[in-house]
Amino acid sequence: MVDSVEKLPNVELEWARIEEKWRKRWTDDKIFETDPQLDKKKYFLTVAYPYPNSPQHVGHGRTYTLADVHARYKRMNNYNVLFPMGFHYTGTPIVSMSQRIKSNDLELIETFQQIYKIPDNVISSLIEPKKIADYFHQEIKQGMNEMGYSIDWRREFTTIDKGYSKFISWQFRNLRKNGLIVQGSHPVGWCPQDQNPVSQHDTVGDIEPELIEYVLVKFKFEDQYVVPTATLRPETIFGVTNLWINPDTKYVVAQVNNEKWIVTKEAARKLEFLNATVKLVSEIDGSDLIGKSVFDEKRKQQVPIFPASFVDPNNGTGIVMSVPAHAPYDYQALIDLRKDGKMLSKYNINANVGPIKIIHTDAFSSNESSPAETIVTSYAIKDQNDPKLEDATNKLYSEEFHNGKLLSNIDEIGNLSVTEARDTIRTKIISQGIGTTMYELKNSVKCRCGTTCVVKLLTNQWFINYGNENWKKMAYELIDNMEILPEEIRQEFTNVIDWLKERACARKSGLGTKLPWDDEWIIESLADSVIYMAYYLLSRHISNNQDLQKDEDKILADNLNDNFFDYVLLGKNNRDTVAMESKISNQLLEKIRNEFEYFYPVDSRHSGRDLVPNHLAFFIFNHVAIFPKDKWPKQIVVNGSVLMEGKKMSKSLGNIIPLRQAIEEYGADSIRLTMLTSAEILQDSDFSFDLVKGIRAKLFDIYRNMNTNLKIFKSQNSLDEDLEDVWISSRLQSIIMDTTAAIEKFRIREALHTILYLMDNDLEWYEKRKLAKNKSIFNNYLREFYETRIKLLSPFAPYFCEEVWELIGNDSYISKAQWPEINQSRISIKSEDNEKLIQNIIFDIQKITKVTKMAPKKISIYTASNVKCKLYRKILDRIQRQVTPNFGQIMKEFINDNEVKELVKRNPDLVKKIIDDILSESENVRERRMKMDSFDEKTPLDDGKSLLISEVGNNQLEVHIYSEDDNDKYDPKQKSKFARPYKPAIYIE
Ligand SMILES: [Zn+2]
Repeated sequence: MVDSVEKLPNVELEWARIEEKWRKRWTDDKIFETDPQLDKKKYFLTVAYPYPNSPQHVGHGRTYTLADVHARYKRMNNYNVLFPMGFHYTGTPIVSMSQRIKSNDLELIETFQQIYKIPDNVISSLIEPKKIADYFHQEIKQGMNEMGYSIDWRREFTTIDKGYSKFISWQFRNLRKNGLIVQGSHPVGWCPQDQNPVSQHDTVGDIEPELIEYVLVKFKFEDQYVVPTATLRPETIFGVTNLWINPDTKYVVAQVNNEKWIVTKEAARKLEFLNATVKLVSEIDGSDLIGKSVFDEKRKQQVPIFPASFVDPNNGTGIVMSVPAHAPYDYQALIDLRKDGKMLSKYNINANVGPIKIIHTDAFSSNESSPAETIVTSYAIKDQNDPKLEDATNKLYSEEFHNGKLLSNIDEIGNLSVTEARDTIRTKIISQGIGTTMYELKNSVKCRCGTTCVVKLLTNQWFINYGNENWKKMAYELIDNMEILPEEIRQEFTNVIDWLKERACARKSGLGTKLPWDDEWIIESLADSVIYMAYYLLSRHISNNQDLQKDEDKILADNLNDNFFDYVLLGKNNRDTVAMESKISNQLLEKIRNEFEYFYPVDSRHSGRDLVPNHLAFFIFNHVAIFPKDKWPKQIVVNGSVLMEGKKMSKSLGNIIPLRQAIEEYGADSIRLTMLTSAEILQDSDFSFDLVKGIRAKLFDIYRNMNTNLKIFKSQNSLDEDLEDVWISSRLQSIIMDTTAAIEKFRIREALHTILYLMDNDLEWYEKRKLAKNKSIFNNYLREFYETRIKLLSPFAPYFCEEVWELIGNDSYISKAQWPEINQSRISIKSEDNEKLIQNIIFDIQKITKVTKMAPKKISIYTASNVKCKLYRKILDRIQRQVTPNFGQIMKEFINDNEVKELVKRNPDLVKKIIDDILSESENVRERRMKMDSFDEKTPLDDGKSLLISEVGNNQLEVHIYSEDDNDKYDPKQKSKFARPYKPAIYIE
């Protein structure tokens, strides 16, 4: 061998030093600061700005890292990329956090000390909300810098900057002018402790409160009491056989408006928030009611009250109407009760009621058993506490909702579809005074202060009216014209736009901008964060502090008014007037306007999947409300969340790792790659430190390999063009093509798999082939391969790639290098089959010698005859065109085909074998072979002889290659007749 690969000692790279070095150079050379450049296409990319109430942990990093990869990728594709960042101070959580510090909340202080490692003297200063936000703001920014994000920091702002508030006031006056802001009474998720509406940002686990509206059916008890049952299916009152009450729960008699209701304590409390006047009269045990009966005013009959443990006192009124024919829980609870002799005799109950069938569906049309019985039996339910009952219920409810019809003998709603019957009955019983409605949270939601949230009917509250039909239409128009990645999440967007209604947009406390026409209210955090991407183009021209204002090139925030924003963002008004009003020069005003015109719209918006139902939907709505069509955003990219060693990250599990700590221990590039390789974009990725270590070792491997082979980068153009040279060159084109296509669609895991692992396989094969021929690997083919690999990797691992880029002799930044381009003339479809053939032959021979334990002295290889190749071609053609796929039919055709009929008659099995051969190849391979007219197997086998010899034998090994057609071939055992195209026959001695 000419070149021996010398082993380097296995030392680690100095990650911290490398990161520091490149970070400083990037900053000093301002390579990520982006201004309009009229001769270049722009790309404006943003990601949801962080809320600074904690340092970022490993889980936060995924979305930002993806956005940074995207920014770096586009930059290498010749775009003038703008990637800015701001900080979202708005809202109540920071305020309540400061109150908890003031009141010496030990749990919070421990979190600050032990997880966030904040020094004690700093903690004591965090009693002011703004100080908390400022502290974590700097902490997060530092982390983003350490991660290597290519952000233009000149445009940074916070949402409590004066200039930003002016901008948000402008947005709100605009929405109001367009009739999109309304005042009124609407239900909202509510924290009784904070006395504020809650949305996703305010809740433990970031859960968006979802509201449902129950119908309460009022049954009469002892003439003077109302027993209300909550249901989402009021049409089923015709199938009620009994009510359920939990015998172990406390109920109360409460004066609700002017009626005496019997409900659980919990329900009485919920009713208060819904603006009922509620006064508790007395308490009763659930067991006191069991065995008695209520009067059903709809059907004018008595209905007995039975005990059931599945009844949840927190759900609805804590009393359930039982429809055993159509509700699996009710059916099962009746079965359980009938078996419970003790209970039956204790309350003197006769449980042999119903079921009463009222709904028909084709899926549950049995005459013998009710739909509920059918499904309970098929799910093999044990008892009413069996968790499978939930699935059974969902299945049946969904079936009846979509395909159900009321039986013809049902009063008032007979023959109606379930949906029609539901609306009819709802309206009727409410107007007859035997029904009402009640809002409730569909999911259990806790405020970050620890209080369980409720639904409150807010009066005089300000709402953004996302229910406005015209507005919805425009929102649909935008998403229909927008790229959404991954595409599979598009339906979720459509659904959200569908169900969004009025949404509270202001609160009485918290940080943020006052409602411009009513300064008792502060605009809440999911309302002031929807069009701020436009503000990135203004922020660096605005000075928020009057005293610091010496700069001629900036506008004082105090001088901003609606005319300014109308001019700069919408192109309205007269320039001279606006310049005069904002006390700036015409040139500066023009410059800002041009900057906005150049960069807007947003080309890509990145965010976590949890923001689809709120932030991202509002982003769409508000853009169509405020901006003309040519300024509507172009793309949304959504990613899943991050698990830590398979578990959800949470404080209680103690598995929250601050990002900066992880970077310090493992280096930013390894963390970045780990976040991106463990899952495709929409799935939750599973972060683990074993994976980080594996990735870091892989990077080091790449580094060591390049460092060892530095001579490659000084190599002259090689004049050789051996088969393996053509092949590696062609492989490189496929790699560029596949990786680029994967990144474009954000199949990042796939792209990284190719760059980090598949490229090594190619490298290894190429080197083996060269070394077996005693040829140097220090050539331009490998130089290009290595260089391309580092370029492909650089958006993902920027520090590492800058370092290697320099190591191999470049004095420019790889961050600004050109993304590899595909050279069509170097794609050789034949070369893939050439090398595959050599690989397969070596593999086959190794297998044979291993099984037979023989040391081969002479190997004869026979390639298939010409006529077999023709036959192969004909079969491939039929399979690919999907004609005559049937074996018998193919045979019939070939028997009459002069070219192949002799062969087929002599060897009928061959057709079958070739069909199997072809079907076992991938679609890619089949297409490739279709494109080739013929394939000469002898050339690559001759060429691969040297490698075959070094892999399976020694220098004395003789290898001969014959065609089946050769008359003077050496073929003592008649092996050649077994040769098939791409499957040469082998004879070993
Ligand atoms: Zn709260």
